Amino acid sequence: VAKPDPILVVDGVRRSFGGLTAVDVDHLEVQRGTITALIGPNGAGKSTLFNLLTGFDRVDAGEWHFDGTRLNGLGGHRVARRGMVRTFQLTKALTRLTVMENMLLAAPRQTGERMLGAFARPVWRAQEAANRERAEHLLERFKLLAKKDEMAGSLSGGQRKLLEMARALMVEPSMIMLDEPMAGVNPALVQSLLEHITALRDEGRTVLFVEHDMDVIMGISDWIVVLAEGKVIAEGRPSDIRADQRVIDAYLGA
Ligand code: ADP
Ligand code: MG
Repeated sequence: VAKPDPILVVDGVRRSFGGLTAVDVDHLEVQRGTITALIGPNGAGKSTLFNLLTGFDRVDAGEWHFDGTRLNGLGGHRVARRGMVRTFQLTKALTRLTVMENMLLAAPRQTGERMLGAFARPVWRAQEAANRERAEHLLERFKLLAKKDEMAGSLSGGQRKLLEMARALMVEPSMIMLDEPMAGVNPALVQSLLEHITALRDEGRTVLFVEHDMDVIMGISDWIVVLAEGKVIAEGRPSDIRADQRVIDAYLGA
C-alpha cells in the first residue's frame, strides 16, 4: 500500500436543507494523483458535497483542507485559483457565448486594467494573448478547435461536457471534480471522455468524479467512496467495493 498523501482532507462537513441532512461527512480524504469515484444513489448528497467543497454553497459545520490550505468560506473563483475546479452535473456552458468566449471567461482573472491605467496595459495584453493561446491548445486537445467561434448552445451534450472539462483546465488545476461527466453523452463519446479523464490523472492531476455506470467506475477508478444519505458508508479499491454488501444494499439495490 502506497503511503497516503491526501490532496484533500474533509472533516465533519455538514449541510442541511430544512429538516433534511443532505451531507454529513465525518472524514474523507482524496489521495493525490488518483482517480477517485464518488458513488451513491440519487439524493445521496454527491452534488451538494461538490458544491460545498468548491465554494458554491456554505457548510453548516466542518472544515476541509486542500493542499494544506483551509478552504472554508472561499468562493468558487478563489477555490479555483488555489487549484481545485469542478464541473457541473448540468453543464453551465453559457449557450449564447461562443466556445472561445466560454474558455476565456474561465481564464485566471485579469489584473485590473482600469485600476492601474495605461501603465499596466502591455501586461494585460500579454496575459490575454497567453490565455487565448492556452484556450486554443485545450480546444484542440478536446477536439473542439473547429467550433471555437460557434455558440456553445449549438454543441451536442457530449461536446458541452468536453467544453466544460476544457474550461476547467484553463486555471491549470491540480485537482478536478467532475459531476456526472458521462450523463447524457452519446455512447460514441463515452470512450473518448474516459480517455480524457485517465489523461488528467496521467499528467499528474487528481480526479474526483461522480458516476453511475458501474463498468465505467470499476474500469478507471483507483479508489471508490460510497455516499448514502449524506454519509460515507464504505470506501476501498474497486474489487473490494464490488463485493461490499453495504454497497450492494445502498447502491446496487436502490
Ligand atoms: P446527488 O447529487 O447525490 O443525487 P444532491 O446533493 O443533489 O444528491 O442532493 C442531496 C439531497 O439534498 C437531496 O435530497 C436533494 O433534494 C437535497 N437538496 C440539494 N440541494 C438542495 C437545495 N438547494 N435545497 C433543498 N434541498 C436540496
Ligand atoms: Mg448529483
